[in-house]
Amino acid sequence: PPFPIHLSGAVQKGFGRGGKDLGCPTANLPDESLPQISTVTQTGVYYGYAQVSSTRDGQTLLSKEEAKVLPMVMSLGWNPFYKNKQLTAEIHIMHDFKTDFYGHEMKAIVLGYIRPELDYVSREALIEDIETDKRVALNSLARPEYEKYIEDPYFGFDR
Ligand code: ADP
Ligand code: MG
Repeated sequence: PPFPIHLSGAVQKGFGRGGKDLGCPTANLPDESLPQISTVTQTGVYYGYAQVSSTRDGQTLLSKEEAKVLPMVMSLGWNPFYKNKQLTAEIHIMHDFKTDFYGHEMKAIVLGYIRPELDYVSREALIEDIETDKRVALNSLARPEYEKYIEDPYFGFDR
């Protein structure tokens, strides 16, 4: 796929399929925010950077730290609700947020692919794989060619 891929939109409620139970909440982008990614047929796990706007409805609700450009892993898959005709992008940001940020604008730059979607025999196996994904993402993003995206003019809600 043609990296970098730029995505943005207001964070939506998902099915609450236990992302938080798995220690891996995923912020869902609205379907309309995915035109660029519809050229990407490869479902699975990606990595890159994301930024959440600190404000919603004119109120500042997130801290400066939470509103920084942060490393993320993204799951791209087909949405069963739309009979698998619609892609969904769910982003886990590698930061400990103090609150939810539903409704906040979020921007992301997707920089690379980690692995296809897999079927898991157990919850433990899934959790272990998510941890591996995060390590792979952080290792890749540590390269100078990727770190420069933190300063990318595409980001900067609060600049
Ligand atoms: P949903 O099905 O509604 O997406 P999740 O269990 O996946 O439910 O939780 C996602 C929500 O958790 C996000 O929309 C966001 O408001 C919040 N959240 C808190 N911390 C994070 C994080 N580190 N990364 C992504 N979302 C987070
Ligand atoms: Mg989610």
